[in-house]
Amino acid sequence: MMFVTPRPELIFESGEGAWLFDHTGKRYLDFVQGWAVNCLGHCPPEIRQALARQSEWLLNPSPAFYNGPALKLAELLTRHSCFDRVFFANTGAEANEGAIKLARKWGRQHKGGAYEIVTFRDGFHGRTLATMSASGKPGWDTLFAPQVPGFPKARLNDLDSVRAAINERTVAVMLEPVQGEAGVVPAEIEFLRELRALTEERGLLLIADEVQTGVGRTGKLFAYQHAGIEPDIMTLGKGIGGGVPLSALLARETVCCFEAGDQGGTYNGNPLMTAVGLAVVQKIVSPGFLENVAATGAYLSQRLRDLAERRGWPGERGLGLLRALILPDERGPALVKAGLELAPTGLLINSPRPNLLRFMPALNVSREEIDLMLELLEGIIGQE
Ligand SMILES: *Cc1c(COP(=O)(O)O)cnc(C)c1O
Repeated sequence: MMFVTPRPELIFESGEGAWLFDHTGKRYLDFVQGWAVNCLGHCPPEIRQALARQSEWLLNPSPAFYNGPALKLAELLTRHSCFDRVFFANTGAEANEGAIKLARKWGRQHKGGAYEIVTFRDGFHGRTLATMSASGKPGWDTLFAPQVPGFPKARLNDLDSVRAAINERTVAVMLEPVQGEAGVVPAEIEFLRELRALTEERGLLLIADEVQTGVGRTGKLFAYQHAGIEPDIMTLGKGIGGGVPLSALLARETVCCFEAGDQGGTYNGNPLMTAVGLAVVQKIVSPGFLENVAATGAYLSQRLRDLAERRGWPGERGLGLLRALILPDERGPALVKAGLELAPTGLLINSPRPNLLRFMPALNVSREEIDLMLELLEGIIGQE
């Protein structure tokens, strides 16, 4: 395998719920879950059944034909959101590429060729050239230069910086309702409302990248619903597949301007993956599920706040089950390593910035598992 990141010298062989097991049989409590991907935990029965059943029927007739699971999933997503149509893809970056293309096409048709999309410092939208350019990760502007042009940057929760970035070439504003990779930084409710009002006033599209925040992660089905606003375009990834490659681009009818040949992809909307997405989303909209995510998120938040208070640390933040513990120094990577090496039970946590830890457990994580995570975490903090 090509080197792209340092990997620990172990091989994961199986998983169940909140647990991963490596080649030596050692178990790890997993609060990363494939980067907020396995929203129902490792190998949940819903996904195993959906894969087994669908694999006996049909894998991929080609995206140029309708298939049952894709239609059903599109119906479910549009029924539970403010959007009218869905385009399925395989990764978050690909869904965001689709959103960028759709906005540019709409700009050509309705705004005299406007194509610029205001995005945010420290934002993350993926690893293709266009989505890297849309991202505001420090250093990414020069990493694979030249960038794709047309993504001026504003600052999150600073409406004046958005106003300053808008000009006659602007067609849209795109943001994560909670900046995930930047360290779980929520957009303020008031900022989202003012941003929606500003974009409406200027005739601009509002694009919500909910690849990390969507599908129940924040305690609502979609994070934009916390602010009571309605974006024009939304992208989903990660959790929508519960662990398999599936993503989606959703838009309101008035924005759906793709013509034949503008957009596509060999695997897009294939029934094997959309059958899994259907099983996942059906579970997440089932009675009581989201209320439980919100309650479990509040519990995790409280436990993290207690830990911070006891140690005199800065605190925690987040929405639902996407949370970060702010550290007093840059010990994040050392804690991640200590968690991995902890025996007999390891702990998987993530440190997107050295001064914080991020927690993104399965949405059905139990309080006992949260308690155990904190016990393990206290152990590695103490042992340093
Ligand atoms: C992970 C992520 C992406 C990229 O998704 P991939 O499936 O890795 O391409 C895009 N946007 C946000 C907000 C993400 O968290």
